[in-house]
Amino acid sequence: MSIPREDAGSAIALDVFKGVLRHVDRLNSWVRAPNFSRGYCSSRSRVIYHYKKEAIKAAQALGLTKHSLVAIVLMCRDCQGKKRYTDQYGFTHDHCNLCSSTGSVKLRFISTVIEAAGIRWYSPTGWRYPTSHFPSDWEKWPEQSPGDWTPNQPGNELTPDEAAESLIAVETFFPERPRARYVSYDYYAGGEIDDFATYGLHIGETMPGICCLCINAPPLNYGFCCNQGRLHWTAHVCGDCRDLWPEAAVLKRCSLNVPNELLTPHVIVWRDTHPSSPPRN
Ligand SMILES: [Zn+2]
Ligand SMILES: [Zn+2]
Repeated sequence: MSIPREDAGSAIALDVFKGVLRHVDRLNSWVRAPNFSRGYCSSRSRVIYHYKKEAIKAAQALGLTKHSLVAIVLMCRDCQGKKRYTDQYGFTHDHCNLCSSTGSVKLRFISTVIEAAGIRWYSPTGWRYPTSHFPSDWEKWPEQSPGDWTPNQPGNELTPDEAAESLIAVETFFPERPRARYVSYDYYAGGEIDDFATYGLHIGETMPGICCLCINAPPLNYGFCCNQGRLHWTAHVCGDCRDLWPEAAVLKRCSLNVPNELLTPHVIVWRDTHPSSPPRN
């Protein structure tokens, strides 16, 4: 449902698009929030960065973006500025590869301002990061100071319902998905992972201090990571229940039903539109 060219000027289409940009914006911030990493998050962050890329492409096509190149010099994280790298065995080498023994590294980011939606995004550059969605001459742009900005600032949390709402909004707007990516280590997936068909959503935890199996309020409390399909949650279990069965049986019991209180309206829609992939033979 992307904006057809001839409709680009229409206020309604633009308003819809700006709404989608704000959803991408809050997902992009959420990736750096402390709770984002609950459940399996690697595919989820790849999915979100894909939509950030698509949003930049679409905004650029509508002439809504202003890009610039920002350079920031940081202390080398491998040698902590000492110019000599200490490896995992405690041996200090006479050089540091990451910073070429200078003690600092210069990182370059493309800053994208989309004024119409009140957005400023930074995209890292370097061999690991795709930049093909930016104008091809970006490497020749003058380097600007980042001002107060530094990378890896913690992002804003989203509730599971807000996250589900934003994911649904961007997935509906940008229906096209990249092909599965090849990985050399995943035997079961036959060498391919489709992040979009497999990423999960952590929807919270059962009431802390109350056992989800016996509904007692016991002193001892253990958290079990449960999942049903692509929904993940943390279930609190008392020591008595935990000792009744082997761990796998406890986990199975906790996972039988998704706790009702965690099934909020957008989470339900997300669950129903994100089925598990059928197992491969
Ligand atoms: Zn270094
Ligand atoms: Zn119990």
